[in-house]
Amino acid sequence: MFSNWSLLHLMDHDFHKKYMLQELLVVIWILYIWEVYLSIRQRKLMKRLDKLPSSLEGIMTEDVYQKARLYALDKNLFGNINDSCSTIINTAFILCYSFHYCWILSGDIVKLMGLNSNEILESSICLFIMSTLSFFIDLPFKIYNTFVLEEKHGFNKQTGLFFIKDQILKFTVSQLIGPIFLSGFIWIVQNGGDYFFFYIWIFTVVLTLFMSIIYPEVIAPLFDKYSPLPEGELKTKIEELAASLKFPLYKLYIVEGSKRSSHSNAYMYGFHKHKRIVLFDTLVKEYCKANEKSDREFGCEIDEVVAILAHELGHWQFNHTIKGLALAQISFVMNFVPFAMLLNYQPMYDAFGFTDCRPIFIGLIIVVMFILTPLNTMFGVFVTINSRRFEFQADEFGKKLGYGGQLKKALIKLQKDNLSYPLFDKLYSGWHHSHPPLLERLEHLDKED
Ligand SMILES: [Zn+2]
Repeated sequence: MFSNWSLLHLMDHDFHKKYMLQELLVVIWILYIWEVYLSIRQRKLMKRLDKLPSSLEGIMTEDVYQKARLYALDKNLFGNINDSCSTIINTAFILCYSFHYCWILSGDIVKLMGLNSNEILESSICLFIMSTLSFFIDLPFKIYNTFVLEEKHGFNKQTGLFFIKDQILKFTVSQLIGPIFLSGFIWIVQNGGDYFFFYIWIFTVVLTLFMSIIYPEVIAPLFDKYSPLPEGELKTKIEELAASLKFPLYKLYIVEGSKRSSHSNAYMYGFHKHKRIVLFDTLVKEYCKANEKSDREFGCEIDEVVAILAHELGHWQFNHTIKGLALAQISFVMNFVPFAMLLNYQPMYDAFGFTDCRPIFIGLIIVVMFILTPLNTMFGVFVTINSRRFEFQADEFGKKLGYGGQLKKALIKLQKDNLSYPLFDKLYSGWHHSHPPLLERLEHLDKED
């Protein structure tokens, strides 16, 4: 059905081959320049506001404001350097036909192993080579971020040994999961006929559901220690809140996030009648282990934590997770329909140096990671804007339950604990923030109903 996209075949083969690479590189660089532009706007704003602005009086002390500002300036600079390096490396990778060389190497490895040429095996090896390369390219940035930047601002809690173990574990887990997905994907494209697109969709949905069951139960505990929240006032109050809303709370965990960093968080997951809530110990003053070794005090009071959970339960009440899943399906169609249409389009492969073959894996990379970048970026912005709307809805829900005041206190405390810089350039914030900035949330909570 999609194998002959006649319109494209009418166009000149060489013309497309020649200009395709240039067009893709232009898109990559336009996006990069746009991101740098936004980040410079934000940087200028932070430089200019070098004293606590009046809008933040009563919310932050001058001392906390200055710490947050310096932290944000350091992160801004680091982000820019990191983005620049990866854009340059990606460009070089494309221009040097590195995808093609990785593919040839994979074929050679299969031959060395004495096996017959097999696309699924070669693709898995190629994925391994590429992800290993990208892991080692990212590693110096991760080390700098954890042991220099986060350390300097008092957030890093990882020891060198913890970091090494953690990285090896992450790498191993992703090397196990990636090939399973890729092999299944290629097999379906090879055997699914004209409607392989439909089977891929089913495969993806099943795999996503499977991963969301396996991840919290099997994978996440490999990295961090999850324990049931101890009996006490906090547990009782959360259970009462859940019961009052008929929320099917199945388990309540606290995770030792403070071994990693003193940034705080809370989330919930699980299907149907098996909902779990996870609190980072850094969120709860009573349980925060970071407090033992720090001169700063982290975490919220019990009622403030309950207010945060009232917000989280708002996400559940309004079916935000299900709506998020629906958006993911749109994104799926947006990526895989063009992939199905372009799968056999030779100039696309020629442009990346694949003149004599059309590996499915490479086609997937070219379409999803390069050709569809503008579309996926625009969709990402739409998702971000929508997510801010969800956050306001969940805040309103918490307020209606009577937690408005505590929620405001909690948001202010989290802002301080995480040293998040609270003021933003409008364009920067609109493009990047999935959560509305603190002042907007406080203002929204203060609004009369
Ligand atoms: Zn939320």
